[in-house]
Amino acid sequence: MTDTFVRPEWATLDIGKAEHRFVVTSGESFGDTDPATGALVAVVRSSTVDDVSDAVARANAAFSSSPWRNGGALRSRVLWRFAERLRANIDELAELLSREQGKSLREARTEVLAAANLTDYYAGLARSVYGRSMALGDTAHGVVLPEPLGVIAVITPWNWPLQLLMRSLAPALAAGNAVVVKPASLTPAITVRALSLLAADPDLPEGILTVLLGAGSVIGDALVEADGVDMICFTGESATGSSIMRKAATRIRKVALELGGKSPNVVFADADLDKAVAGALDAFLTTTGQICTAGSRLLVERSVAGEFVDALVARADALSLGDQLDPTTTLAPLVSGSQRASVEQYIDRARAEGTVLTRDRRPEGELSEGAFVPPTIVADLPMESAVVQEEIFGPVLTVHAFDDEDEAVALANGTQFGLAAGVWTRDVDRAWRMGRGIRSGTVWVNTYHHFYAETEVGGFGASGLGRQGGVQGLYEFTETKHINFDSKVTLW
Ligand code: NAD
Repeated sequence: MTDTFVRPEWATLDIGKAEHRFVVTSGESFGDTDPATGALVAVVRSSTVDDVSDAVARANAAFSSSPWRNGGALRSRVLWRFAERLRANIDELAELLSREQGKSLREARTEVLAAANLTDYYAGLARSVYGRSMALGDTAHGVVLPEPLGVIAVITPWNWPLQLLMRSLAPALAAGNAVVVKPASLTPAITVRALSLLAADPDLPEGILTVLLGAGSVIGDALVEADGVDMICFTGESATGSSIMRKAATRIRKVALELGGKSPNVVFADADLDKAVAGALDAFLTTTGQICTAGSRLLVERSVAGEFVDALVARADALSLGDQLDPTTTLAPLVSGSQRASVEQYIDRARAEGTVLTRDRRPEGELSEGAFVPPTIVADLPMESAVVQEEIFGPVLTVHAFDDEDEAVALANGTQFGLAAGVWTRDVDRAWRMGRGIRSGTVWVNTYHHFYAETEVGGFGASGLGRQGGVQGLYEFTETKHINFDSKVTLW
């Protein structure tokens, strides 16, 4: 491990140390590095398997004894204040996120604001967790009540570590649960730094929020199996989600799964093509392609395919790869060297099975060993190629031409995933037909990658189970109870 810290004051962060009382870590320390330069960002302590049972026991005790589960106003107040603290600390949080994860500073600032926005939204809903009541005959009535589930395990990925965390954590807390968070082991520092602003709130009961750190295969797995967890809310790869679901099944434990994608972005000849080129670039290159909703399969109507793809390749080849905090950089590194190696394997395969249209290049000098991969656009691949079918999680776009709407829908629905899609057309009727025909949790029309706290997201098929965001995203973290009143003792 190098001893060069990107910011000397972060050398003392020591994430997981005793003063972070909401973080339960009694294991070994590991270094957390900047993927562009390899410099140390922070030192992080890992949790142990014993820490997992302690954390879950602590969460259960807090859930049973604190005013949290019935205190909507309390929960709302705590969440509002946290959102404000996120905004007040945006400069430091965005820099730490950018250094640790590798995303551009601009995207990191967007992410901090998105996390605050989600927190605001659920702070509002925390006071309105409504049920229903109804007459059930002359002598009876029923009250149908959403109650918090109890202890929620929230397991998060590294690509949008704050926004995706708050998409699950904010509604889980707003609904009155206690939560144990296990962030990805590539992004522990930003998670703990941000959550320390929540844990510092004097009105947050001790034990309602606990964080565990360490490898998913050890600490995540122990959390999934731990006695006393009522629900697992997982965001990550489809294969990991599937194995979590199998384990949860043995205990009949509720799961919410936000998984992978291979999203189609469909461009018709009648679209505003300049706007669609910009949208297609953003769709596959946001977070350097490491985003579950990446528009990684471009489907273009054949009559404009040549000119459209030429324009896109020219834009992609003009992007500048470099340090994520350098304002002249237009394509940031990937999260790690191993992610780069994984993406490069797919690119090798794309060269063997199809035609790579973009330039191969890497930064030179001190960044030459960094986790950089250039934007890579590939044509002539068969639909069954792994490059077309599997989630790559890097800046790789496959291109296919189609002749009519039916073919476009068939190609769009031609993978196991169904997370998101884009449609570019000036024809409103066609946009509606495509929106109904494509099987995915989100369909963007003449735009891409716009997210709102108010609207649900989630997947069809292998992209997941359940919905996050919006009102439904809060009720996912509740159990429904019917309390029945009847002045007659028996029905007969
Ligand atoms: P991952 O599945 O490797 O890890 C996600 C989390 O699960 C991490 O915290 C990890 O430590 C933990 N984990 C790993 N193995 C585990 C196990 N056996 N038991 C319990 N926990 C375990 O995913 P990743 O590489 O961190 O993230 C990238 C993936 O996440 C991509 O597939 C992407 O599509 C997906 N993702 C989905 C969404 C969505 O909203 N649908 C959003 C972002 C990312």
